[in-house]
Amino acid sequence: MKVLIAGMGKSGRSAYDFLTAKGYDVEFVADEVLNSKTEILENEKDRLFSGLSFIVASPGVSLDLPFFKEAKKRKINIVGELELGAINTKGNIVAVTGTNGKTTTVTLVNFLLRNFDKKVFLGGNVGVPVTSFCELVKKDDVVVLECSSYQLESVKEFHANIACILNFSVDHLKRHKTLERYMWCKNKIVKNQTRDDVLILNADNDLLMKNKPRTKAKIYYFSTKKKVVGCYVKRGCIYFNDNEKSEKLLSLKKIKLVGEHNLSNVLASCLIVYLITKNINILNDVEKFNGVAHRIEYVEKVNNVSFYNDSKATNIDSTLVAVRSFKNKINLILGGSDKGYDFEDLFKNLPKNVKNIAVFGETKQKIAFFANKYNFKNLYICESLRAATVFCFEKSKPSYIVLLSPACASFDQFSNYEERGNVFKNIVKEIAFDENKKQKQVGKIKV
Ligand code: ADP
Repeated sequence: MKVLIAGMGKSGRSAYDFLTAKGYDVEFVADEVLNSKTEILENEKDRLFSGLSFIVASPGVSLDLPFFKEAKKRKINIVGELELGAINTKGNIVAVTGTNGKTTTVTLVNFLLRNFDKKVFLGGNVGVPVTSFCELVKKDDVVVLECSSYQLESVKEFHANIACILNFSVDHLKRHKTLERYMWCKNKIVKNQTRDDVLILNADNDLLMKNKPRTKAKIYYFSTKKKVVGCYVKRGCIYFNDNEKSEKLLSLKKIKLVGEHNLSNVLASCLIVYLITKNINILNDVEKFNGVAHRIEYVEKVNNVSFYNDSKATNIDSTLVAVRSFKNKINLILGGSDKGYDFEDLFKNLPKNVKNIAVFGETKQKIAFFANKYNFKNLYICESLRAATVFCFEKSKPSYIVLLSPACASFDQFSNYEERGNVFKNIVKEIAFDENKKQKQVGKIKV
């Protein structure tokens, strides 16, 4: 049976290995055919589509391409790599989506479940293709999946036993065109859920509450602000309430992660883990969880200025939660590749402790325009991440924070957000080295 794979990245290659091992006749679609709007596709389409069983789409390729339109016209099934893996597992699926906090939440769930007596697999958008491990999963094992809107867009048979939507805010408009379409994709996480399944929602997120999916599943909520059926905060502790009883799960003192948004992520994680294990003790490990790299990650202190790397903040909401996580004065680094939105909401809601902003990358002029519109004066246009970091450091007084939380994707200058975060961390190391040298020289002169 013949299968085509669109996208030669990590998940495409994993799907290739998975299907080849199952005896399929698998072919990658060449990039020039996939991206062709005209004759290349015309010339190839009959050969490609004849006798085809289905197409596997990697999350990075847009389903709006003429290639997929042609496939749909011919009624050929298109399946995402995540769905292909998920429908080929025997385990219980926990699927997490939302605009922000997905990786932190699934990583924490996986971390807490390491002492659970069932085997746990972590995959999906977190960087591990589901087809790379799906056949190892046994009936009672748990499969924790981070699901992006791209991965959910095409799902048909996907079935999560526990689905969780963390929040909705504006993102990925270049691909999905409208916010409604983006939320529609994310809401597909409930597809095929039954009365025996669970859906977890963030009761504090208005956009989500107004656009929540219709489902037969039992709904639990989490909230940092009010008592809900699910997990909530009361007098410094996290409680679980199921309408019959309220049970104390954990003291907030155990949480190491900074910021209100991370409290939300912890609530969601505790709710998921508690529903799976019914074991309070397992939640105590929250105190051993230090977060995930590139998410408000502490780098180091130079001359009493603290540097934080939040390179994963690739939309406005995530940058706003990052700046709100600190009481200290902040010099903020913004900019990167354009995802199709403006920066109106960023400047409208920017807290007063942001003192200076350095912008760089493709969006620097766009950001400068909105800063000007909202009368934010201390904005400086820089040529590179290095120049922006050095500038922010020079503008800092003791106890300031220099925060890279760019509100943009990284692809204009880096291969991904990890590379951008690592470059930032190296620049900080160099700044620390230079400052150290300067101080030694001053010391020598004094001697
Ligand atoms: P995702 O996987 O959804 O991109 P991450 O856990 O990787 O989310 O976090 C990415 C960035 O989003 C973080 O650096 C932080 O600034 C922000 N963030 C994390 N959790 C939340 C949340 N619950 N609400 C809003 N922003 C968040």
